[in-house]
Amino acid sequence: ENLTADLDALARELDAAHVFHSWSAQGSPPQLVVASGRGTKVWDHSGREYLDFSSQLVNVNIGHQHPAVVSAIREQAELLATIGPPTVNLARGEAARRITDRAPEGMNKVFFTNGGADANENAIRMARLHTGRDKVLSTYRSYHGNTGAAIVSTGDWRRIPNEFARGHVHFFGPFLYRSEFWATTPEEESERALRHLRRVIEAEGPSTIAAVLLETVPGTAGVLVPPPGYLAGVRELCDRHGILLILDEVMCGFGRTGRWFAFDGYDVKPDLISFAKGVNSGYVPVGGVVISDEIAADFDEQVFPGGLTYSGHPLAMASIVGALDAMESEGIVDHARRVGAEAIAPALTELAEKHAVIGEVRGEGVFWALDLVADPETREPLPAAEVGRIKGAIVERGLLPFVAENRIHVVPPCVVTAEEVEQATAIYDEVLGTVAV
Ligand code: PLP
Repeated sequence: ENLTADLDALARELDAAHVFHSWSAQGSPPQLVVASGRGTKVWDHSGREYLDFSSQLVNVNIGHQHPAVVSAIREQAELLATIGPPTVNLARGEAARRITDRAPEGMNKVFFTNGGADANENAIRMARLHTGRDKVLSTYRSYHGNTGAAIVSTGDWRRIPNEFARGHVHFFGPFLYRSEFWATTPEEESERALRHLRRVIEAEGPSTIAAVLLETVPGTAGVLVPPPGYLAGVRELCDRHGILLILDEVMCGFGRTGRWFAFDGYDVKPDLISFAKGVNSGYVPVGGVVISDEIAADFDEQVFPGGLTYSGHPLAMASIVGALDAMESEGIVDHARRVGAEAIAPALTELAEKHAVIGEVRGEGVFWALDLVADPETREPLPAAEVGRIKGAIVERGLLPFVAENRIHVVPPCVVTAEEVEQATAIYDEVLGTVAV
């Protein structure tokens, strides 16, 4: 007992002394120690249990320590733990085939990266080389990763101190609850957001625009499920002007929405797809770009000016094969869709009826957000200090939430059970009951 408590203390001590953390002031290091996990649960060294309704950074889709993924990695490690990109490796081909099999027809090649940011980085590079144009249009309500073009494509606050790449233009996508277009119905929001994008394209000069880059369902920005006709309308605008469409499926892909790709639910086909996270649930860092045959053909004779030491790393490739095969054989994507419709949706809807602080519930599959408001009439976001207190109280009760701005994102692994949804809902209920709105 003492020994394990000592390990938690040692972990915190080493972390505070030597680890430099992402997106944070280093004076307040994280306190939560995670030593092990299984499925939807994680534990610290002392055995304190937490229900993970964050999937960490919304990436552990298959759940923690899935035995098929762990053994796929172990077997590959014993056979060949690393190999350079300019080689043929069976695990790499197997991983690529499993991804292209799930992509639309005419998208048969994958360029593997280390994560989601460099997936977007390379998708943007391909779009620029293919079109001979420079500009990339993306939305203010987006996150595309923390590298050169990806962070400047990003719309949220993280772009602003990092704006060192050129050729990026931002616009507003649809979001009815906080509409930029005074819309009152999803159809109106869709139509007006499309008109706005058309005007931005015209004003920028269509012949200067290489690509529109969109998260199919913007994730960190608040799980903004697109209204009817929006994505098809964007595709049409792109086609009219010879602009490529890059769909960022890093967070929303591979089961999160209850579909393999989020765009499978819409009448739209991208030219390039960026992915990461759920493809192997983050057991080994990996991402990539699925490339249309037309774009891939540009580089049949011409050299592709991009590469990475770890492109197609065998441990990552084995983990993709292990994860996708287990997701397929265990029906995990279908489970995510059903548990979303049958357990999460009703539970969160009931919660919202009970607590005025929940302004809106939105989402699908295992991809949901509770939009917290100080005033349901004005929809003014709940202040950060109060959101911070709520987050602390939730963690104290043994539940890990994903909190962004004024929202709790309800984003458990795809394997979450109805009982676990019930447990989590009871905790949200108890904590939100302490909010005076
Ligand atoms: N794109 C989206 C939609 C994301 O949510 C993220 C990460 O949260 C990224 C890109 C960046 O991925 P990574 O952190 O693996 O570089």
